[in-house]
Amino acid sequence: MPDFDSVLFDFDGVLLDTEPMHCACWAEVLAPLGVRLEWGFYSACCIGIDDRDMLRMMATQSDPPRDWQELWAQYPAKKELFRTRMEGTPPFEPALPEVLAALELRHKLAVVSSSSCAEIEPLLVNGGIRAHFGTVIGGDTVKRLKPHPEPYLLAAERLGVKAPLVLEDSEAGLASGRAAGFQVRAIKHPREVPALLRELLLP
Ligand SMILES: [Mg+2]
Repeated sequence: MPDFDSVLFDFDGVLLDTEPMHCACWAEVLAPLGVRLEWGFYSACCIGIDDRDMLRMMATQSDPPRDWQELWAQYPAKKELFRTRMEGTPPFEPALPEVLAALELRHKLAVVSSSSCAEIEPLLVNGGIRAHFGTVIGGDTVKRLKPHPEPYLLAAERLGVKAPLVLEDSEAGLASGRAAGFQVRAIKHPREVPALLRELLLP
C-alpha cells in the first residue's frame, strides 16, 4: 500500500447516499413534460455523468425524441427540490466525522464531485464536516468533467499533494481518478467508507 498524503472523496455515493434522491427529484420535475425517469435506468446509466449528458441521452431515447434543452430547463427546479429535501441534517454515516477528524491530522482531504458546489457545500456544512476539507471541487469549478482527469488534477494542485487516494463509486469517477494518475478505490456504498479509511490509513 503506497504512502498516501491525501484522500480525494467523490461526494454522491461515497460521502452521502444521494443518488436515490437525485433520481427522485429529476423524475418529479420531468414528469409534467411527459418524460419518465426510473431508478433502474438512472442507476445503470446516469450515475457519475454530467446531468446534461443524462438529459441528452433521455431526450434521444424518448418517443418521439425531445429537445434536451427543454429538459435541461427543469434544472433550477430540480436543484431547489433537492435542496429542500436534503435540508436539516443530511444522513452522513455516523462514524464519518470522527474518521475525517483523525485522518486530517496526517492527510489533506478534498471533495471532488460533478455536482455543483451550491448543491454540495450546504450539505457538508449542515453535516458538520465542511472544515475537514481543504477544497471542494464541483462540476461548476472545472471545464471538463469526469471521466476527464481535470477535477482530480485540480484538487491535487489546490491541496499541493502528490499521492492521493481517490474514493469513487462510479465508472466515470474511477476513470477520472485513474486518468489523473492516482490510486483509486471503488466504493459500493457510503456505509463502507469509515471502516475502509480506518483500515487503510489510520494506524
Ligand atoms: Mg459518485
